[in-house]
Amino acid sequence: MSDFYAAVFGAGICGTAIANELNKKGKRVLLVDPYVSENAPGPPAGLVNPATGMRAKLCWNGKACYDALRNQIETLIEYSGCNDLISDTGVLRPAINEKLAKNFKKALDKYDWPEGWVRWMGEEEIQELNPEIAPNLGGLYLECGYTVYVDNYLNTYRKYLREQGVTCRYEEADYCYNSSSGQFTIEVGEEEITADHLIVAAGYRTPEFEEWSGLPLEGVKGQIVQFEAQEDLAWDHAVSAKGYSMRRGKRQLIVGSTYEHNFDSLDTTEEAYERIAGKLDIMFADISSKLTKQVQMAGVRVTTPNRLPVIGRHPEQEQLCIYTGMNSKGLLFSHHVASLLTKHLVDGEEIPEELNVRRFED
Ligand SMILES: Cc1cc2nc3c(=O)[nH]c(=O)nc-3n(C[C@H](O)[C@H](O)[C@H](O)COP(=O)(O)OP(=O)(O)OC[C@H]3O[C@@H](n4cnc5c(N)ncnc54)[C@H](O)[C@@H]3O)c2cc1C
Repeated sequence: MSDFYAAVFGAGICGTAIANELNKKGKRVLLVDPYVSENAPGPPAGLVNPATGMRAKLCWNGKACYDALRNQIETLIEYSGCNDLISDTGVLRPAINEKLAKNFKKALDKYDWPEGWVRWMGEEEIQELNPEIAPNLGGLYLECGYTVYVDNYLNTYRKYLREQGVTCRYEEADYCYNSSSGQFTIEVGEEEITADHLIVAAGYRTPEFEEWSGLPLEGVKGQIVQFEAQEDLAWDHAVSAKGYSMRRGKRQLIVGSTYEHNFDSLDTTEEAYERIAGKLDIMFADISSKLTKQVQMAGVRVTTPNRLPVIGRHPEQEQLCIYTGMNSKGLLFSHHVASLLTKHLVDGEEIPEELNVRRFED
């Protein structure tokens, strides 16, 4: 018998979610990540906004995704007693041009929004909500949208998982599959640990696992900037127009993001800063002069042709699994999709075709 049901490589947004879902099913889980800890730095903020893109399209399985994440966040808040995991202040999507106004109005009728999620706001109402916002033609207000302080969220989640009985090893590990025993052997430090399944949830580093190197995943670099205002800012909601901004503390404003398809390094660049400052000017009138840059960060999103996550088993080694391809909606997708992978592994349920890694087979 193996030491663990599954070894999960990667303790980011996907890895924590799948470790938690399997653990909830009573399965023993080993979580491995050499680059993080329970006190790791991380992105200062991420948006949960189910109205996606310039058409404000309701995200894939929006309600199921939203509820699954929200349930786990509430569990983490209750567990930690911390009030700095999220900011429940909604997302404003101002229509800063005619086209956006048309798209946003259309989206209200086009999608089956759950009760209370979204409503139209006139220009004056928006002005009242946020006196600094750029001129607009009204817009959408996503009452259900919120900001996650991703660094706090993930560190709390890792601690929670350890206390729930998940074995967490924040160090280098290697693995091999032993066909005679039908197990993976994971080498961590001096130890050799066995597991029935190995789940790769390593974000943009997933293609470094050679068995998964051939998938059509594209890494798109993104940079964000955290600004500090000289005075307390007069609003607390997030804004998503041709860029997005999120609030943290009384004076911090986090603004993103770039979408860089060609890049050689994860260094931050002046060019990206200029682009982000441009987005800030589009979202807010006359605010740039009141802000100073505090931090600039870069990361990589893993994008897929259908913009949906990738889960499932390796075609030649069915105990080797994958969870990646979160595009720009990692938070929203994380728990619902982790529960689908768990139900597949533990209960034998089918994986929806649009998510299954097998969709890339000829
Ligand atoms: C600039 C930017 C802004 C974004 N904004 C948002 C947003 O507002 N809302 C939102 O929902 N999403 C946002 N995203 C997307 C979101 O960050 C991703 O979808 C999400 O992080 C993907 O989760 P993941 O677990 O696949 O990868 P990650 O969260 O990157 O986690 C991967 C983990 O694997 C670990 N790892 C790597 N190699 C190994 C290895 N060999 N062994 C073990 N572990 C390994 C890493 O250390 C890391 O902890 C943004 C992304 C970027 C770049």
